[in-house]
Amino acid sequence: MSDNTPKPKPQLPPHMQRLVRDRNIDDPQAAAESRRAALERRRMAIQFDIDQGELAQEPENPWTHRIVLLTEALANVESEIQAARVIGPQPYVALPSIAIEDVAVSEVEPYEVSFRIGAERFRWQEKLDWIERGGILAQPVLEQVGGSAAAIVPENVAGEFRDDLQTHLSDSLNAYATMLRDARLNEETLPLIATYDQLLPPCPTCGGWMDVKGHCNACAARKVHEQDLLHERQHLMKERSAEAEERHRLAERLPLARKRMADLERELASLM
Ligand SMILES: [Zn+2]
Repeated sequence: MSDNTPKPKPQLPPHMQRLVRDRNIDDPQAAAESRRAALERRRMAIQFDIDQGELAQEPENPWTHRIVLLTEALANVESEIQAARVIGPQPYVALPSIAIEDVAVSEVEPYEVSFRIGAERFRWQEKLDWIERGGILAQPVLEQVGGSAAAIVPENVAGEFRDDLQTHLSDSLNAYATMLRDARLNEETLPLIATYDQLLPPCPTCGGWMDVKGHCNACAARKVHEQDLLHERQHLMKERSAEAEERHRLAERLPLARKRMADLERELASLM
């Protein structure tokens, strides 16, 4: 094809062509056609509203169906909430009341914390790399550098129970070391606890092990689970009322939609 070929006159896209045609007041036939086409499109939209409104008034309709399903889901969540609130007794074994001795916290930073339980010596050190976070120097993490929780788990505790106890013990030893460091940092009296068993007091709620600060993992997890379920219940209730509102709105709008349809039919008839 040569470059001299005349380019075809650009055509308007169809919707623009229609606009131009609609404004053609010199052609009353075309104007009436286009008016009729617009009314037909409106009729389809109103018919949709009427169909939805009639459907919403039927005893069986999609909104009612969804409300039934959401009500069932709500009943399930409700029983899950009841189950989540049941406090399952947690395993517990009392620890021997061995003295916690030689508690030492260095006077200056980086802090070092140490103490001894029986023959096991525990030691923590602050990591030297201070981390800057948004202009604030964060207190360095206390890292355990000596001693093992495994060494002080009583011999008579066996199996899975032993691992569980060891985890709780390790967490509580770290919590205690941090309490000691923080007390020194804030120039407070060191929170001394006399004996090993005070590291894992029984939880008054579930009977399991709490840490030295009185925090119970089992109770905390139970509360988080319950909160999740309460959120889900709230969400389902919202969904259900949205369905009911939609059904109500469509049914309520039906007389108006019918009136609009009657007006439109009259207008269409006048164009014939
Ligand atoms: Zn508890």
